[in-house]
Amino acid sequence: MTTPFVNIHTHTETGSGIELVNIDDFDATPFATFASAGLHPWNVGKCDHQKTIATIENLCQSGRLAAVGEIGIDRTVRTDISLQMSVFEQQLDIAKQHQLPVIIHCVRAYSDFLQILRREQGIPMIFHGFSGNATTATQLLTHGANLSFGQKLLSDGKLQSVFTNIPNDCIFLETDTKQLDISDIYTFAASLKRIRVDELKTIIFSNLTKLFGNKWTTVG
Ligand SMILES: [Zn+2]
Repeated sequence: MTTPFVNIHTHTETGSGIELVNIDDFDATPFATFASAGLHPWNVGKCDHQKTIATIENLCQSGRLAAVGEIGIDRTVRTDISLQMSVFEQQLDIAKQHQLPVIIHCVRAYSDFLQILRREQGIPMIFHGFSGNATTATQLLTHGANLSFGQKLLSDGKLQSVFTNIPNDCIFLETDTKQLDISDIYTFAASLKRIRVDELKTIIFSNLTKLFGNKWTTVG
């Protein structure tokens, strides 16, 4: 088998390579094979959060999720930070109980996450759409985080230099909500790392199996 592309965070299933599909409608059918779900910080103030958290717990219990997320902290939205934090922590506990990796949405909240990472060692966390600077990247990586890069990598010179200089064993690529082909992000990212696309595929596939075992192969 040739090593597949891995899209670690998308809201739309395209059938190209391995895609961790973020489920936005928990009643959706059919449910993606390799799926993540979580109460996004943007939605915390807009729903009965205890009910939604219970739904996510049920989805984990029934084995339908490969990851919890995207969940996190966003300091650019008005929702009270202590409420965001409480909703995040409850979902982190669910991930811990079910030994699932977590997809993190983090906006202007890297210092919050450094504290979280210090006390929550051992839960694999993937910071999706990473856009921080080199210092932030180093600090997160020191605490075992993984960083996923998407559309911004294509145009942001500072982010390109961060990506180029971080170790390969913590990187992922994603399309998120963007109309992009994951293979185009791979091509660009491989050129930044000065490696071939197939080498990058091997690296990211190995990062995937380290965190998820062979979960993408099980039909949910
Ligand atoms: Zn997303």
